[in-house]
Amino acid sequence: MIEAWIGLGANLGDRAATLDAALGRIDRLSDTHLCAVSRYYFTPPWGDTDQPEFLNAAARVRTALTVGELLRGLLGIERDLGRERSKRRWGPRVIDLDLLLYGDQCIEGPELTVPHPRLHERAFVLVPLLELAPDLVIPGRGRADALLGQLDDNERAGIRPGPEAGYLPPNDDAKKR
Ligand code: ATP
Ligand code: CA
Ligand code: CA
Repeated sequence: MIEAWIGLGANLGDRAATLDAALGRIDRLSDTHLCAVSRYYFTPPWGDTDQPEFLNAAARVRTALTVGELLRGLLGIERDLGRERSKRRWGPRVIDLDLLLYGDQCIEGPELTVPHPRLHERAFVLVPLLELAPDLVIPGRGRADALLGQLDDNERAGIRPGPEAGYLPPNDDAKKR
């Protein structure tokens, strides 16, 4: 089994309900267990700021799927939940599921890069990750807390804690701490 981390985001429709549904489906992917889920965070849009505020979260899973199978599983959930692909880069979306980390593996390919190539420059990803794993190290990049500290203040501005996830794994590891 491999420990993997997934970033979730939504900024159209009922964002919290969609994140809840996505978490349930991630938990039901074959050979995959959802282990821990961060709270939801309200975050300003990144890259293309002329769109509604996002709700973002991070989740930790244990999986026997290969990295390619896991990514395909996530893209399938996005499709099922109504994600429409537009030409607009970083545009609004019902749901976005990014594979952030897959064990300590570094993979660079045409359809898949892990660690996620922009994770280290995104406070909206690092903040929920650090909630779950304060000592997390991003392979090839270093400690997640140091990466967050290196970002401009305006990258961190506007991120605020939102509701607790509506779908939590039965034995959410994060709640045991
Ligand atoms: P960003 O990748 O900057 O967060 P995005 O999430 O808007 O942007 P998408 O349109 O959702 O990008 O994804 C485009 C493609 O990225 C996917 O079809 C997938 O093949 C590829 N991809 C490569 N690496 C990853 C990864 N680690 N997680 C998710 N998708 C990835
Ligand atoms: Ca993304
Ligand atoms: Ca994506």
